[in-house]
Amino acid sequence: MSTLADALAWTVDALRDAGIPNPRAEAQWLLADLRCVSRSELPLHVHQVLTPTQQQRLQTAVGQRLKRVPLQQVLGQTEFFSFPFKITPHVLIPRPETEILVETLVNRLKGHSAPRILDIGTGSGAVAVALAHTLPGSRIVATDLSADALQTARENVRLNCVADRVAFLQGDLLSPFCSRPVFHALASNPPYIPSADLAHLQPEVRDFEPHLALDGGPDGLRFYRPLISQAGACLLRGGWLALEVADGQAPRVAALLSRCSEFRQIETVRDLGGIERVLLARKRR
Ligand code: GLN
Repeated sequence: MSTLADALAWTVDALRDAGIPNPRAEAQWLLADLRCVSRSELPLHVHQVLTPTQQQRLQTAVGQRLKRVPLQQVLGQTEFFSFPFKITPHVLIPRPETEILVETLVNRLKGHSAPRILDIGTGSGAVAVALAHTLPGSRIVATDLSADALQTARENVRLNCVADRVAFLQGDLLSPFCSRPVFHALASNPPYIPSADLAHLQPEVRDFEPHLALDGGPDGLRFYRPLISQAGACLLRGGWLALEVADGQAPRVAALLSRCSEFRQIETVRDLGGIERVLLARKRR
């Protein structure tokens, strides 16, 4: 294993032998990270030689992947909404489908010069950072129960230069933050996996991502009930509530929303896979 081409072949084989899906793409990500180049630039470097330190780092990284540590945790970073995010074991790795949550709110708020938005359960800060960037006049309050997650989220707002418009609060759901209706919108991607399903998730998620960010209680809906009943107290009249849901949960969450007299205009937005992914409701005027 001396040239980059050799290292790439060795890595692909090791990942494939361990049954890891997409071994070639993953090997490219690992090698690109090692050499600080983009994946598309890798072919230009295949004849270069890896230093002993780089070989050692590659072996360590592949060893972690063979234990099923998620690739984003091995790399310590990922991308969401085209922005870079530091990833630690304390935060859920941002998923592409959560971009729909961001887009849904951006579409509703883009005519607004200075919207105030509350992001409940911010994790890595992905939704808060993407909203702050895409709505340049916005101010965001982002909360999480986990102090460790908030630490990572703080690093991510600094990394993305939006620290002056994102404030963080530690706490559970909404009650600690909402004594008055001050927000134009509320976004949340709460934990929504039914507890009994956690054991059947892929090992990367089951064994390495924080269960605090995944476990939605017996029916997966544990967090939607208090979120929906408390949201009205934080939102201004005409304010938007946007909630990410799991595949199949949309009708039940829509029913919770329609039972709450404070909300009207309940809509479901599908993700790129055609799954009902985001519920949007508007507080009455
Ligand atoms: N989208 C994540 C998954 O399917 C779960 C995120 C969540 O619980 N909000 O693994």
